[in-house]
Amino acid sequence: MKSSYSHVLMLIGAILAFVPIIAVDHLLDAYVAYRERAVAHQYVETVSSHIDASIMDGVSALRSVIADSPSLCAPTFVTNAQAAIDRGLNLKQFLVENLDGVQYCDAYGRIVDYSPLSQPLPVPGLTETITVVKFADMGMPALKITQTFGEMRRVSVFVPLLGQSETSLTQSMRNAGMMRVTLTSGMPILTIGDPAGFDGRSSNSDYINAEKFAGQFPIKVETAVPFVMVRAGYADLDVIFTIIACVVSAAFLLFSLGYVRRSRVPAFDLERAIARNEIKPYYQPVINLRTGELMGCEVLCRWEKRNGQVIPPGAFIDYAEVTGLAIPMTVSLMEQVRNDLGELCKTMPDLKISINLFEGHFRDGGIVEDVQAIFGGSSISYRQLVFEITERRPLANSLATTGVISGLHALGAKLAMDDAGTGHSNLAYLATLGVDVIKIDRIFVDMIKPGTTQVPVLDGLIAMAKDLDCEIVAEGVETEAQALYLRSRGVVQAQGYIFAPALRVAAFKELAMALHMATQPAPQLAIPTASAA
Ligand code: CA
Ligand code: CA
Repeated sequence: MKSSYSHVLMLIGAILAFVPIIAVDHLLDAYVAYRERAVAHQYVETVSSHIDASIMDGVSALRSVIADSPSLCAPTFVTNAQAAIDRGLNLKQFLVENLDGVQYCDAYGRIVDYSPLSQPLPVPGLTETITVVKFADMGMPALKITQTFGEMRRVSVFVPLLGQSETSLTQSMRNAGMMRVTLTSGMPILTIGDPAGFDGRSSNSDYINAEKFAGQFPIKVETAVPFVMVRAGYADLDVIFTIIACVVSAAFLLFSLGYVRRSRVPAFDLERAIARNEIKPYYQPVINLRTGELMGCEVLCRWEKRNGQVIPPGAFIDYAEVTGLAIPMTVSLMEQVRNDLGELCKTMPDLKISINLFEGHFRDGGIVEDVQAIFGGSSISYRQLVFEITERRPLANSLATTGVISGLHALGAKLAMDDAGTGHSNLAYLATLGVDVIKIDRIFVDMIKPGTTQVPVLDGLIAMAKDLDCEIVAEGVETEAQALYLRSRGVVQAQGYIFAPALRVAAFKELAMALHMATQPAPQLAIPTASAA
């Protein structure tokens, strides 16, 4: 429970460390999709440019045959047509017919066996039309490219849609993939593989697909393959990626462990520091403004690391409070205080030691027993102890709270309201808690500037403390003007830099003894009599 915070951080680190492994699948999916989409685009690009080139060949052959032949169906025309077929890679036939389809002549002097599969399609920018046809016994559809010649005749050239056979196209296709050529009207003219799965897909991410038009022609080429099928082809890469991810994860885990260990955030080893008594009490003297006597001290703390670094409490107190470590920390501090100041308290039985408590102490309740266990039977008496509760975080008005307060009172210790004026203080609240001392926060003391004759807020606070019959300690006294003003308002006790900062035990004891000697009447010396020999 105490160190649950650092455990949570460790857990988060461990989970983060495995992110690469978890992400492998995702990364590999993205990689496969990216690679395969490029492949699909390349494929439709190739097929569509074939179709484009094939049609353009046909168009230019048709035009040159017509241009070179003075009259259609004359021997020159036939010779030119045959020569064009010989030259061209893909030209199959030339045909002259009338508008009703009655054939006049062709390149080889026989009936041309074809049947249209589509309407003649106009092509933007060309005078020719294109008709998809079944030509002779070709398995693949062919294209009939036609020029209307005068009012009566049409001259056409036949070109296969694609130079390859259907078998070779099927072989080049991915397992379960499909390729389809359609007219822009949506009419399919060539389909390789089964497009049903693709057409009925529920999500676009299930398929890798691409499409492209054949140049300016109203013909679209598309291809698609189920993602799972291509993904299966990357199984080897899957293994490699997973190994890399494991290595990255392990590295990250080691790095975060190292970070946790080396971290300058005190969080991770505060618990150990408390166990090793690295949280040291520092003592800030409380001085009597009238006599200059030492009245007591407030126990503050510093984290003295083994490497010599000294960390002020601001860097770890909040963390200690949130995590519950404030409770063992206070125990450790009280034990050190007992060892540090036991002797001094015998010499100065009126010295008051002020110890800061946390809100958690008033819920936990164990503090009363801790105080008894530590100070019971020690040379520090309970009535020398003052426990400070901060006003910044008001205590719950609960049975546990009143139990702790009355328990401490019953021992003879006093209670101080720390940082008074900064929270929600009102007379009723303070009166319910039954505090004995009010510590006026430094922000009010700071309001006293040289030459100030009154500080209404501060004066009000002092008056309130007096009404409650509380002792007053002013905190953060830094200038002579402040000390004098406070004294003039009847404040007797003060702490602050004008007197001393928080001191290590040795320095504090030295100061305490020096002040003690200075303010004590000189001891009566025993004067030896002359007769004593
Ligand atoms: Ca305090
Ligand atoms: Ca304070």
